[in-house]
Amino acid sequence: MAKGKKSLKGLGARYGIKIRKQYTKVHLQLKGKRTCPECGSAKFGRVAVGIWSCRKCGFKVAGAAYDVKV
Ligand SMILES: [Zn+2]
Repeated sequence: MAKGKKSLKGLGARYGIKIRKQYTKVHLQLKGKRTCPECGSAKFGRVAVGIWSCRKCGFKVAGAAYDVKV
């Protein structure tokens, strides 16, 4: 067993280290907790590519595919 290496589920040992590093970065960005700029709730997330919305107050904003830029 390899020790000390943090692995991310989803890609396994495929595609090479460079792609996996990129994927990990994007994945964490995508799944990371965000707060709604409108009401401050943590229920803010991506509903579709480029569309981010808050499930609490319904605030919707157009952002980038993997990250929101407010
Ligand atoms: Zn909100």
